[in-house]
Amino acid sequence: MTDTDRKNPGDEDVPGTKQTGENICPTCAGSGTIGQKPCPDCGGSGQVTVIVGDA
Ligand SMILES: [Zn+2]
Repeated sequence: MTDTDRKNPGDEDVPGTKQTGENICPTCAGSGTIGQKPCPDCGGSGQVTVIVGDA
């Protein structure tokens, strides 16, 4: 298990999976923090992995 296998609560899929992309975390609006705390959805990165697909 490597770091790239880890998935944050806000991620729709594991980073590196086909047809996924990085998106601004909607929970913290890309700031990585909620108030004084790290955003729980993106793990403080400010980005989440979302499934893009072909549509
Ligand atoms: Zn976030």
